[in-house]
Amino acid sequence: MRLVMFDDGNGVRLGVLDADQIADVASVSRFHDVLSCCDAGLAALPDLANLARSAPKIAAGRAKLHAPIPRPRRNIFCVGKNYHEHAREFHASGFDSTSTSAVPDLPIVFTKASNSVSGPGDVIPAWIDPTQSVDYEGELALVMGPSGRGIAKSDAMRAIYGYTIVNDVTSRTIQNAHKQWFLGKSMDGFCPMGPAVVTADEIPDPAALRLRTEVNGELRQNAEVSDLIFDIPTLIETISRSLTLDPGDIIATGTPVGVGIGFTPPKFLQKGDVVSITIEPIGTLTNPVE
Ligand code: MG
Repeated sequence: MRLVMFDDGNGVRLGVLDADQIADVASVSRFHDVLSCCDAGLAALPDLANLARSAPKIAAGRAKLHAPIPRPRRNIFCVGKNYHEHAREFHASGFDSTSTSAVPDLPIVFTKASNSVSGPGDVIPAWIDPTQSVDYEGELALVMGPSGRGIAKSDAMRAIYGYTIVNDVTSRTIQNAHKQWFLGKSMDGFCPMGPAVVTADEIPDPAALRLRTEVNGELRQNAEVSDLIFDIPTLIETISRSLTLDPGDIIATGTPVGVGIGFTPPKFLQKGDVVSITIEPIGTLTNPVE
C-alpha cells in the first residue's frame, strides 16, 4: 500500500494512494495519520486494505500531498558516507571534517531535527544558508514499525514498516565548520520527504531498488541500494544496539555518488533549481529551490 498524507481543503489526513485516486481512510477509521499505521504495525495491513476499499475516493489531482510523516516524533536518523563512491567524493571535496579516511570502519550515525521535514512540492529554502553552499542528497529512508532495542540483523527486516524518499539537504560550509553535521542539515525545510510510504510487504528486497536524482532534468545520482557500505540490517542492528527504535522512526540510509560537491567547482543549489529524486515504486519527490 502507498500511504500518503493529503489535504483536499478539509485538513491534512491519511490516505491510501492507488493510481490516481486517494482512499480517504482517515474519514472512516481510527487510522488518522501514517504514524498511527506505524504504531499498529504490518499486522494491521489487512484491516487497512479493507478500509481503503470502502473509504470515499478523492481524485489525487485535487489534493496536495504533504510529507508522509510531517512532524516526526523525534529527529530523523541519518547515515553518513554509506556508499563507496560517495564516501570518496565527499572525502575529496574538502568539506569532510570527520576523519582521515574516506570509507568509515563503522556506520556514521547523526540526526536531522524534526523541524527540517517538508513535503513534496514544498520549497527548499536555500536562502536560509548564509554561506550559499546548499547541496542535495537523494536517499532511501526506512520507516520503522514496532521495533525495540537490540534488534539482530536476522530480525531487522521485520522491524521495517515501510519505505520513503528523503532529500538530506545540507549546507556544506556549515556542516564542515561546526564539525558535527547537525546544524548544516537541520535547517527548516532541509528534509523534503515523500511522496508516500510504501509498506514493506510491497518491497521484499529493498537492496534491489534504484535511486535517481535529477537537478533541472540533469541526472546527477543513479545507484542501486545494494551498493550501500553498511546494509539495512546492519544499520538497524547498529542503531538499536544503543537505543530503542520506536514506531514511526525514520532512518535515512545514506546518499550515493553525484552530490553537488562531487563536481569541480561544486554545483550548489541555486534559486530556481528543481530537484527530483525517484525510487520506484515509492515515486518521485520533487522540490523547487528558493
Ligand atoms: Mg545524507
